[in-house]
Amino acid sequence: MEVAAVSPAELEAARDAALAAIAAAADLEQLKAVRTEHAGDRSALALANREIGALPPQARKEAGQRVGQARGAVSKALTARQEVLEAEHEARILVEEAVDVTLPTDAEPVGARHPLTTGAELIADIFVAMGWEVAEGPVIEAEWLNFDALNLGPDHPARTMQDTFWTEPADHHVVLRTHTSPVQARTMLTRTPPIYVVCPGRVFRTDEYDATHSPMFHQVEGLAIDEGISMAHLKGTLDHFASQMFGEGITTRFRPSYFPFTEPSAEVDLVCFVCRGVDSDQCRTCRGEGWIEWGGCGIVNPRVLQACGVDSERYSGFAFGMGIDRTLMFRHGLEDLRTLFEGDVRFTTAFGSEL
Ligand SMILES: [Zn+2]
Repeated sequence: MEVAAVSPAELEAARDAALAAIAAAADLEQLKAVRTEHAGDRSALALANREIGALPPQARKEAGQRVGQARGAVSKALTARQEVLEAEHEARILVEEAVDVTLPTDAEPVGARHPLTTGAELIADIFVAMGWEVAEGPVIEAEWLNFDALNLGPDHPARTMQDTFWTEPADHHVVLRTHTSPVQARTMLTRTPPIYVVCPGRVFRTDEYDATHSPMFHQVEGLAIDEGISMAHLKGTLDHFASQMFGEGITTRFRPSYFPFTEPSAEVDLVCFVCRGVDSDQCRTCRGEGWIEWGGCGIVNPRVLQACGVDSERYSGFAFGMGIDRTLMFRHGLEDLRTLFEGDVRFTTAFGSEL
């Protein structure tokens, strides 16, 4: 008997349907479905192949050839179409996923905290480790707190020497603070001794803006008020501060000086942390001195204690102050103060987040 699936007409129809479907497959996904439908186990051609066995022996050879040719044609067409579609797929990926390396990126550069911020924090940490507190105050300050409370009376020469920014109207007696000392006055007025505070902050003077001056700069001042405070406590504290900032063995020396708010008063010098006073003739940092000027200090004038409500019979105190900017310039070998203020991110990131 003749089985339907292996009749020449049925085979031709099955083969043509398979070839048409293969040609119409638009992508590899569709071709996979076509392969299952037209060449898989349940396809018309696979069915025809299985039916060959049921044919009378004399018909098997001819039927086998017909089925084999049809399946061969479909298999060849599938392979050819597969290659074409794979090539198209790869070409499309190359176009779709191409990267234009000239496009601007979305990556945000990672910034860094400014050396003045981290430097002020480092200084504060040194004092906090000794049990001191950090005190802050307003940069726009009452004239009385900036001057009078600190024994800088209206006729005091130092008052006119500090080139002050005054705010309008003048009869309100408000200034941009010329030092961080009013923070000390505020602390004494609001607290009862013992007082151990360090006050970092911005200060303002009508200076030119050049490599060593700026109308805005940063100071750190310290104030200790307790019973029996002496010059020895001051020296020990500043020696510790110096060695923490500049390295083991860096100490200070005091030179007699005058400040209205302290008596006695001294200028503070640091052992040059580059040459350590050895062969200093060659040293660019201290210019042959072996020492570097760092700041001022002294025993708090009893008149300042009295003006700020502290019992000067019972308590004494010391105070010191230095420029944070200047300290950082030493520490990092900066030649020009302005690099600290001009906000160039190349400068900031060079110092990273730690100094
Ligand atoms: Zn030196």
